[in-house]
Amino acid sequence: MAMGEMTYDLHSHTTASDGSLSPSDLIARAVEKGVDVLAVTDHDGTEGLREAMQAADAQGIILIPGVEISVTWGSHVVHIVGLNVDVDNAALQKGLSDLRAHRFERAEEIARRLDKAGIPGALEGAREYASDVMLGRLHFARFLVAAGKAKDIRDVFKKYLVHNKPGYVPGTWASLEEAVSWITAAGGQAVIAHPARYKMTATKRRKLVEDFKAAGGVALEVVSGKQDLEEVRTLAALAAQYDLLASCGSDFHSPTQHWLELGQLTPFPDNCTPVWSVWS
Ligand code: AMP
Ligand code: MN
Ligand code: MN
Ligand code: MN
Repeated sequence: MAMGEMTYDLHSHTTASDGSLSPSDLIARAVEKGVDVLAVTDHDGTEGLREAMQAADAQGIILIPGVEISVTWGSHVVHIVGLNVDVDNAALQKGLSDLRAHRFERAEEIARRLDKAGIPGALEGAREYASDVMLGRLHFARFLVAAGKAKDIRDVFKKYLVHNKPGYVPGTWASLEEAVSWITAAGGQAVIAHPARYKMTATKRRKLVEDFKAAGGVALEVVSGKQDLEEVRTLAALAAQYDLLASCGSDFHSPTQHWLELGQLTPFPDNCTPVWSVWS
């Protein structure tokens, strides 16, 4: 969002998870796109942050150390972003390291299931697109597109890797309480990422917010990219109702996803208290 001269983008990915730009290249692109404050929030890991910090210092942009934690909440997978976390916190790093280990086990199972569906070599194939630290569905998706199994990334997630399709493995992630407690222990703010993206009713979403708040969560991502204005209004009202701070971010992964760019966000609603109001 732009407030005065400041543009905030508090959700983005690098090659340390399933983004396609290195931390340095991500920072360079953020500068180019006019972002003043960028949070790097890789899935279940903080390995990209050291390089990101150095690049941010060199290029005059404010870097917020973050992470996006995978959570199993009932039958749903939800994502909890942690902002301004101390990356040296032991509780946080232990939790993240367990999640990454689980990712590698899940990746092997995804590959077994794709193999059964007549697509061999998927584990090696996905690894070609991944760094050593993290393996996710988007790496499999890139392999499947390159192998000619789908026409693009959107198409892959219709045909593969999702419920009732080949290569789907649900995964068992952190609990909501664990994710929030690791972030809080590391001095950060826990944020429900892209709340409108989960396939749940409004009632279920309020229950999620209630459980999240009870666990110590403090913010909602009320703006995710160029989100529908009506959705943003609904999320702003939800934040207000539960006295939660508001965050905003693009969830940028790759320049090839041209509809989703660093710093390009629906305007921040003026009835929300920004999450950065608690930062010194
Ligand atoms: P994982 O955490 O490994 O299960 O993978 C989740 C990631 O897959 C998300 O963060 C997105 O990067 C990507 N993803 C999931 N669904 C889609 C989709 N429909 N289109 C593009 N990317 C997707
Ligand atoms: Mn992702
Ligand atoms: Mn997410
Ligand atoms: Mn994300």
